[in-house]
Amino acid sequence: MRIDFVHILLIEDNAEDAGLFIQLMKNNQYRTYPEFRYTIETVATMEESLKLMNERGVDVVVVDLLLPNTSPNEILDLVERASTKTPVIALTTDDQIESATSAIEHGAQDYLVKNRASGDVIERAIRYGIERKKLMEEQRCIKEDLIRSNRELQQFAYSASHDLREPLRMVVSYLTLLEKRNADTLDEKSKEYLSFAVDGGKRMQAMINDLLAYSRVGTQGEVFVRVDMNDAMVTTLRDLRASIEESGASVTSDPLPSVMADQNQMVLLLVNLISNAIKYRGEEAPLVHISVREDGDEWVFSVRDNGIGIDPRYEARLFKMFQRLHTPQEYGGTGMGLALSRRIVERHGGRIWFESEVGKGSIFYFTIPQLAQSCHC
Ligand code: ADP
Repeated sequence: MRIDFVHILLIEDNAEDAGLFIQLMKNNQYRTYPEFRYTIETVATMEESLKLMNERGVDVVVVDLLLPNTSPNEILDLVERASTKTPVIALTTDDQIESATSAIEHGAQDYLVKNRASGDVIERAIRYGIERKKLMEEQRCIKEDLIRSNRELQQFAYSASHDLREPLRMVVSYLTLLEKRNADTLDEKSKEYLSFAVDGGKRMQAMINDLLAYSRVGTQGEVFVRVDMNDAMVTTLRDLRASIEESGASVTSDPLPSVMADQNQMVLLLVNLISNAIKYRGEEAPLVHISVREDGDEWVFSVRDNGIGIDPRYEARLFKMFQRLHTPQEYGGTGMGLALSRRIVERHGGRIWFESEVGKGSIFYFTIPQLAQSCHC
């Protein structure tokens, strides 16, 4: 049998109530939970309790929520400030039951109603309060670790891609210079090798730029504001003017709603999806249509095209970084567009997916919650 030794601090200004509480516990000691051993120390004021917690530390605090001159929430804040790890059990009375509910919302592990709690109920509340707090602390630590390592990873991806740009720019520009200066003297094979090297360098530059854009979604995203998606469309069409004209594409859209979002990222998302719809076109001139419908508490946007289509088997793969279905010779690109789109949509609390059939075009869907969401960075 594992014996639990627990040091309980009782903060109670009413000596009679304190005496009764201790009596109830003592009467029940070794009965319901024989492995539960404890000492109880009683103080009458918050000042005394904070001093004691600072000096020695305690395993659990049982506190009367109706101490003079301090509100129940202030009491809980003071205990939390003295030790974030110490569980708190609130003591209240029948006619002040709301203060107990609010104490639970404010971080107390449990509450006991005076004159109604028996010894075993008190012991159970204290023991489970300790266990629950331990679990919550573990979860808090895991969450903090995750947030920190995520932030470090994002920072790493950002710095790595940012710092790689300069040396790579030098490699590409000196190779290009070499190619130009020796155009007359180099034999055909050497020219071919140099041109492969320049192409490879340029492709790597494009990949690094896209990686940088990807890591910026998390590290340099703007706060969400009301974004009129019709305005986002106007900017998108302006950005894509050259490829729309060159391909003879027709890009149309239904009237679109306003959403709470990062303005630049909404444009980036539309640019990615619409430029793919144009790039992966079939024999016909591209027809691209953007529409929207309401589904519960979210907007479901769709970008439909009449292009080459995608085998749905590849859905899970295509939203990952650097995943493509074509060689650079068939279609230019780095395979980052859909990964970037997914990251943007998820930062806004939405989802992205597609429906498609090879040869029959594709529809890309993404959702944006209607209610303002905090950033899912
Ligand atoms: P990239 O276009 O640079 O290859 P993306 O991540 O944007 O990268 O797209 C990944 C792959 O998904 C593309 O290589 C292409 O095979 C496929 N794809 C994306 N959008 C479409 C589309 N509208 N129609 C057909 N295939 C598409």
